[in-house]
Order: sequence, then C-alpha cells, then structure tokens
Amino acid sequence: MPEGDTVYQAAARIRRAFEQKTLEYTQFRVPRYATTDLAGRTVESVRSIGKHLLIDVGDDLAIHSHLKMEGAWHVHRIGTRWRKPAYTARIVLRTDAAEAVGFDLGTTEMLAAPDAALAYLGPDLLGPGWDADRAVALISADPARPIGLALLDQHLMAGVGNVFRCEACFLRGVDPRRSVGDVDIPAMVDLCHRLLQANRTNRVRTTTGVTVSGRRYHVYGRGGRPCFRCGTPVSRNFLGEPDGFSDTDRVLYHCTTCQT
Ligand SMILES: [Zn+2]
Repeated sequence: MPEGDTVYQAAARIRRAFEQKTLEYTQFRVPRYATTDLAGRTVESVRSIGKHLLIDVGDDLAIHSHLKMEGAWHVHRIGTRWRKPAYTARIVLRTDAAEAVGFDLGTTEMLAAPDAALAYLGPDLLGPGWDADRAVALISADPARPIGLALLDQHLMAGVGNVFRCEACFLRGVDPRRSVGDVDIPAMVDLCHRLLQANRTNRVRTTTGVTVSGRRYHVYGRGGRPCFRCGTPVSRNFLGEPDGFSDTDRVLYHCTTCQT
C-alpha cells in the first residue's frame, strides 16, 4: 500500500528524469483533462507532501496525483515496454529522453496554487520542514479520539497510512483503540518519523528490519497468524468512524497481548 515513503520515492524518480526539463508530450487519460496539453512547459520541481505528489510546471500550476491504494508512477526511457496495462494509465509525460506514466492514480488533476490547496495537510513526516512539535500539538488537540484514527488523519500529520499506523501502534505496545490522551504522543510521533525516514530509500518496506516476504511487518497483513513476539493470533478488525475509515484498506491489525 502506498504511504509517505512510496510517494517520496516516486517523486525522487520523476525528479531525476524531469526536473528542469522541457515536457515534449503530455497526455491525461481522465475525461476532465482530456484536452490538456502541457508540452513546451518546463518541470520546475517534483515534490511529495505526505501522500500527495506535485509536479510543478510553472505559473503556480502543478500536476497533482495521489496513489490511493493501487497507484504507481513508473519512470523509464522512451520506448520502454510498460509493465502495467495501458488502460490503467492516467497520465503520460515525456521529455526528449524519459517517460513517466502514472498508473491507477486515485487523483489526477491540475492544481492551481498547489501549496495553498494542500495547506490543510499536517506536518509532512518526510518534508524539509518537518515539525514534530506541531504534529504532537495537532494530534493531542482531540484527546478522546482513538490513536489508531488520529494517526491516519492527514490534517494532523501527513504520510502515515494503514501499514505504518498498525506497525507504530504495535512497536509502542499501544492498542490502537486507546484514546490519544492516554498515549505518549511525542514518542509515537517520533517513532512514525523514524519508521518513514528509515523506509524512504528502501526498495522493500520493512518495520521489522527483515525484508523477506511474510516477515516485513509485525502485525500488518498478518491477521490470525501468531504474533512474532508472543504467539497470540494477530487480531484483525475495524476502527469504524462515520467518515469513511472503515473500508477494507483500513483493516486494523494488532496483538491483543502485546498492545494494551
Ligand atoms: Zn504479541
């Protein structure tokens, strides 16, 4: 599942091939932008903010994408055979040498004044202006909220998705249903920062230090299987909230013995 680390890496790949380069060809495969043509514009910068990716193309205008659950950006030399079905491509960008294709993007749009548009996001865990104190203050402002929901709220802190939410709670020994006011928030925020930092350049994401399939996470995706630490079957359930958190990609994994 794409989280802040995935988007950070996607931005780095696009940046290497596109920054300060002229776009020779662009194609948006979404109806709203079917006639948009950015050829001739220069890519000024490529950035990630939390789970959002911005490709700045001048005049305070940016291509904004969000990977959601399945999305991916592939960058390669022009002429390279695509590794995903063409019908899943949402945007194609080319310089004279490189091609970037965004597949299965949850959001593909042109955004005017992107910084203002994304100002609602909390501090970016992988951003140059990372502000831990502000993240702690924003999360702590609602002490009754379950920590497992607060960690996913991008208005409070940007970059954590379901994997890091589940894993951070496990590593802190915290039941994700526990109230924010009952959790050491500075320690939790610091751990999230360290987990994302550690994974921002990893080819394979891990929170255990092991990159072998099936051993990469303590609890995420391991429902019913024994906790590596205590042997209790990992619990799989939901932390329902009326604002849409309870879909299948928000399944909560935790160990009822190690996390209290
Ligand atoms: Zn356990």
